[in-house]
Amino acid sequence: MDLYEYQARELFEAHGVPVSAGIVASTPQEAESAARELGGGLVVVKAQVKTGGRGKAGGVKLARSPQEAADRAEEILGMDIKGHKVRRVLVASGADIAREFYFSVLLDRSERRCLAMCSVDGGVDIETLAKERPEALAKVAVDPNVGIDEAKAREIASAAGFDAETGEKAVPVLLKLWDVYSGEDATLVEVNPLVLTEQGEIVALDGKVTLDDNARFRHSGHEALVDKAAEDPLEAKAKALGLNYVKLDGQVGVIGNGAGLVMSTLDVVAYAGEEYGVGPANFLDIGGGADANVMSNGLAVILGDPDVRSVFVNVFGGITACDEVAKGIVAALDALGEAASKPIVVRLDGNAVAEGRAILAQANHPLVTLVDTMDGAAAKAAQLAAGSDAKQSDAK
Ligand code: GDP
Ligand code: MN
Repeated sequence: MDLYEYQARELFEAHGVPVSAGIVASTPQEAESAARELGGGLVVVKAQVKTGGRGKAGGVKLARSPQEAADRAEEILGMDIKGHKVRRVLVASGADIAREFYFSVLLDRSERRCLAMCSVDGGVDIETLAKERPEALAKVAVDPNVGIDEAKAREIASAAGFDAETGEKAVPVLLKLWDVYSGEDATLVEVNPLVLTEQGEIVALDGKVTLDDNARFRHSGHEALVDKAAEDPLEAKAKALGLNYVKLDGQVGVIGNGAGLVMSTLDVVAYAGEEYGVGPANFLDIGGGADANVMSNGLAVILGDPDVRSVFVNVFGGITACDEVAKGIVAALDALGEAASKPIVVRLDGNAVAEGRAILAQANHPLVTLVDTMDGAAAKAAQLAAGSDAKQSDAK
């Protein structure tokens, strides 16, 4: 999970990383009173969106008075930054910047360790710096079992080109940023810019943090960081049911068991759908050993998606038995009753396939079509998705 800047700052504060004071506002009036609460002097009004380059896009602006803060907030709220709509701004005390640095620590999966990156030329787009002047961006491997200790922090500061005096000031901040990274189970902590103020203080003026969702059970506070309002309601429902679901933008709902099978089902549906101008509407893996209940929950989520016009259930029975899948389909359709209106194409193979097919044949539901092959079933589902579209436009 990526965090908003204001959330990253909260974690920074909790771990003792120096940040400027800030207050979140969602209206110009709130921005004005936030600026007043911060002392009425210079503030910076910052769009809260989960993407970088806000400054360049006009989403970070200085304001010299509470009235100006309201005006800047008025301009920034509602802006679209790289497809992200700005619903909130952070009003932060303006810092007098003497110099801007860059620091990040991230999980380097390919090297099976962590990597710290640091530069005395921060504030700029770091990808550009890495490309045009790679020597200006120090990269220092960090052993996750040791972390950034004082020796490592000095190594990073000196590799980045800090002078001795500034380096000594930066070292304790790097240690605390490592505390954020390891203490919160993050996979990325990035500060750009980390600044030296005219007053001689090191302050994190921006923060980008990605938390490891697989470690959420270890952090009771992380659930509260989820932006429920920005979450896709179907994805939220699926997550609550413990399902592995990702919404896509097509019309054919896809359910399968095992990530590999579901991925290849998406490919087959995309290929079969080309002819009709339809594609997969989602990824949904019911996983290994799924029972009727899991299948039924999965189908309920997909049928609840207004974009879905047909569903393709593709199960290769291994630990998951086909009869459980068939029972799940029948149960979901029973529960929906008259509300069920979308055709479902089912391809079953493997463990208990005969029993599974028998259950569906017995139920003889008008919306369910059994097809033996994956390609055949994908073609049928694509055709049905296109066909129900045709019916809809006929009705108009
Ligand atoms: P980003 O563009 O999304 O990375 O947003 P940042 O938070 O990094 O802000 C962009 C730029 O605005 C920074 O690099 C700074 O130059 C400037 N900026 C941010 N906060 C302050 C501040 O408190 N005072 C001053 N003078 N400039 C700031
Ligand atoms: Mn930044």
